[in-house]
Amino acid sequence: MQTNGTSGIIKIIVIFFIFLWIVSIIRVAKDISHRTHNVFAQIMCILLVTLLSPLIGLPIYLILRPLHYHKDRIPRREAEALHLLNCYNCHTLNLKDNDYCSNCGEPLKLKCKKCWNKCCYSYSYCNECGSPNFDH
Ligand SMILES: [Zn+2]
Ligand SMILES: [Zn+2]
Repeated sequence: MQTNGTSGIIKIIVIFFIFLWIVSIIRVAKDISHRTHNVFAQIMCILLVTLLSPLIGLPIYLILRPLHYHKDRIPRREAEALHLLNCYNCHTLNLKDNDYCSNCGEPLKLKCKKCWNKCCYSYSYCNECGSPNFDH
């Protein structure tokens, strides 16, 4: 009975460890895909955790991974300062002069009800007359 009980516990520990291993690999794969577009770096990080086990691989990954998430979206204010517009539909960056998104064709501008000025979709007020009358 004594040996049976011990091997049962070992089995549970092994299963738990394998579970942790798989979860770590999935988490690292997700995390690294948000941090770099470099496929080689992504594969290296996933292999690191897969081959060295999470116990050794995870701490190494945490030290080596890029510190920041890459940004697909630029905050609205920054984008406007760069004379770019974020498409509200697909988040593609477009030139401020564009009336329609170059990726999905959605309109980027709204017409002011008062002065018919074309305003960026993200504006709360017309930049010509200050009117808040937009059909969002
Ligand atoms: Zn778009
Ligand atoms: Zn206006």
